[in-house]
Amino acid sequence: MLRSSTTAWASKRASHMQYRALGKTDLEVSVVAFGASPLGGVYGFTGPEEGKRAVHLAIDEGINFFDVSPYYGHGLAEYRLGAALQGRRNKVILATKCGRYGANEFDFSAHRVFASMDESLDRLNTDYVDLLFAHDVEFGDLSQIVEETIPAMRRLQELGKTRYIGVTGFPLRTLIDIARKVPVDAILSYCHYNLLADDLDAVLAPVAESRGIGLINASPLHMGMLTEQGAPDWHPAPKEMREAARSAVEFCKHRGCDISDLALRFCFDYPKVATTLVGMATREQVLKSLRAFEALADPQMVRKVRAIIAPVFNRFWSSGREENQ
Ligand code: NAD
Repeated sequence: MLRSSTTAWASKRASHMQYRALGKTDLEVSVVAFGASPLGGVYGFTGPEEGKRAVHLAIDEGINFFDVSPYYGHGLAEYRLGAALQGRRNKVILATKCGRYGANEFDFSAHRVFASMDESLDRLNTDYVDLLFAHDVEFGDLSQIVEETIPAMRRLQELGKTRYIGVTGFPLRTLIDIARKVPVDAILSYCHYNLLADDLDAVLAPVAESRGIGLINASPLHMGMLTEQGAPDWHPAPKEMREAARSAVEFCKHRGCDISDLALRFCFDYPKVATTLVGMATREQVLKSLRAFEALADPQMVRKVRAIIAPVFNRFWSSGREENQ
């Protein structure tokens, strides 16, 4: 059923994907990007064959930016993405990460960065990535990130193993602190610009713009919270936030609107980021995200949802070391 409807829908259309420059790099990334953490089972079981078909469909439909990490499924997401990209590597812009290897497993030493790069390239079945990020830097010692991790990543750039480098993390101030101390090409921020939060716009975007740093907005669905399925058990948001999101989901549902479509459309329209990373592992999710990209914006519905979630808007949870909050 899915196969025939997928093929019919996909073959009827030419790709309308749009592309934006990522900061000062020469990378032109699709506005809709493929977050590969679900390929590592982060949101529950996903079949490897379906994941591969989802990657192929995304490429065929013009999605050219893929993000992964050794952390997602302890290497599984990289391994599956690498297998799916066989013969298609030159069609995509590929990002992976270093420094985070488990819920509480971090190592930002230069030694580990070098080893991690080779392990990732091996799993991804390629000899270079386009972007290498230090993953969730707020869990590290910031002086080590600045003086050791990033210089090691620049060395990997000189060696041709990555084309550009960047940092990812949750507290915006930590990302800014690092970017002020040492040049980075890109910053990946998550859960700071979507229907539940917008402080990326006032806090991070001006710094990125003034320094020519490419901005990537991840988790437009607030890591599953803005979906009819709801947030996974491990989601760190406080209970009131989950409840408010659930009310917004139900509100939309009663009006015949899928909150995920609304949330994605809202993020894709935001011009200060180069791309929005959506976590996907099935063709159905790829198609749904692409339909959201092509749908008409609904500012009235966005206002109504924002009113429901107003009490928890821009509410965050702590992540990382105390001194990095
Ligand atoms: P997300 O907000 O994209 O939500 C993912 C969830 O939404 C999954 O359960 C998925 O099945 C579901 N989904 C996907 N498309 C959908 C659609 N069209 N309609 C309804 N549901 C849909 O959260 P995410 O996956 O955490 O973030 C996206 C990507 O960003 C990740 O895969 C990862 O690559 C990256 N990311 C990086 C960091 C970091 O570096 N620290 C943190 C978060 C996310």
